[in-house]
Amino acid sequence: MENTRARRIKIFDTTLRDGEQSPGCSMHINEKLDVAEALEALGVDVIEAGFPAASEGEAKAVKEIAAVVRRASVAALCRCRKEDIDKGWEAVKDAAHPRIHIFLATSPIHLEYKLRIDEETAIEMIRTHTLYARSLCEDVEFSFEDATRTPHDYLARAARTALQAGATTLNFPDTVGYATPAEMKEMISYIRANVEGIDRADIAVHCHNDLGMATANSLAAAEAGASQIECTVNGIGERAGNAALEEVVMAIRTRKDRYRMTTGIATERIYRMSQLVSSIVGIKLPPNKAVVGKNAFAHESGIHQHGVLANKATYEIMSPKDIGVPENALFLGKHSGKHAFSELLEEMGYSLTPEQVDAYFPRYKEIADRKKEVTRGDIDALLSGIFRRRVKRLYSLKDYEVTAYKNSASALISLEADGKIHTDRMTGDGPVDAGFKAINSLTGQNFKLVDYQLHSVSEGKDALGEATVKLASPEDGKIMTGKGISTDVLEASLIAYINATNKLLQED
Ligand code: MN
Repeated sequence: MENTRARRIKIFDTTLRDGEQSPGCSMHINEKLDVAEALEALGVDVIEAGFPAASEGEAKAVKEIAAVVRRASVAALCRCRKEDIDKGWEAVKDAAHPRIHIFLATSPIHLEYKLRIDEETAIEMIRTHTLYARSLCEDVEFSFEDATRTPHDYLARAARTALQAGATTLNFPDTVGYATPAEMKEMISYIRANVEGIDRADIAVHCHNDLGMATANSLAAAEAGASQIECTVNGIGERAGNAALEEVVMAIRTRKDRYRMTTGIATERIYRMSQLVSSIVGIKLPPNKAVVGKNAFAHESGIHQHGVLANKATYEIMSPKDIGVPENALFLGKHSGKHAFSELLEEMGYSLTPEQVDAYFPRYKEIADRKKEVTRGDIDALLSGIFRRRVKRLYSLKDYEVTAYKNSASALISLEADGKIHTDRMTGDGPVDAGFKAINSLTGQNFKLVDYQLHSVSEGKDALGEATVKLASPEDGKIMTGKGISTDVLEASLIAYINATNKLLQED
């Protein structure tokens, strides 16, 4: 039963901004679009799409995201500078619901050492830039960076200034992940008691997880009256990351008896959303990650298993179904046809066009030919590895032959590009090293391998291997993540390397 007095909390997702700008999490523009569409389907209220003043590529990505998102608001982050606000507005102005998000630090340490301005100057900057942003856009969020290390009276003055200048959301970030839940409550309560007219605006918090308190801090602020929580999928973000969307949302839902709040999130899409982001940024979740970790619903000990069998509620506070964890039952074999395949995709919650089903079906058949049974986990891996908006395949793997003995290996690789086949042989310390070197030689690139991981997607000796490769461009240091999936781990690795190469060669 939904509590009728429940307060609606807005979920502001910054996976594409705070998450994307964290180390090793860069996304290709096509991947950003996939994430944005998935976030919209998930039901977030605001999608922070990026920081348009950062680069041309970033501005273009924000503009394209603004064009595809229809229901959620699309926010562009801007420093307190007119040029930033102009670029931000240019990027989001065609969105169905555009938002300009401006920030300025207010803490003494930031004012003195980073901005080198005094308190009065900061107040004036808040006033003039909020007024300017409001002259362009009806929806303006102002963030008082490092709010949790700002004296309450000055913070309230800054908030009053932004509110009077027309800001519609006031955000009080725990930028450095320093606050405790009790302090968050005190800060929000102080602001509500001392900023006249604050109820006209949304009060937001943006908490970082440096001390592992981001989710607790966000919820404490909401209890004190905050109406918008900023978070990221899987908690990715600067340093230790942000409050995790899945944790915030599931805590509100599971403990609605206590919080008396709701969100607009379709929780049964959480698991797939989490997998999509993990797959794109190439960061595996720890098995014990709250809500979405592999073991989050596993009951290993005999006593726990016994209890769960007798009554799930003994040890389960949420059901895996609530977040859409697929049951890993066997379902299709090599003789299943396209119809059965497309029905299953539908049942699993994938809405693909007939053309997309046609495009994925051969890959499915390939896997079905090599494995006796194809599981839902395999399907998830297949679909998360091949995104809806494909990055154009400049190069694709045509053939490979690798021989290895102890610490030396030789790889003969054939790549297809522009309808032509190119072949080269290289030696290396091992089969993977030799293969990667041959690919670099064929593409004429000097890309540097910064991370390489192999995981098995499902269980058993014929499980699919999933390779993740992070490659850096020596010119600008840009890093892209490539993935490859195959029953052969070497093939998966080569595909992942080529995939990352293709992304680096056509960044925007
Ligand atoms: Mn942040």
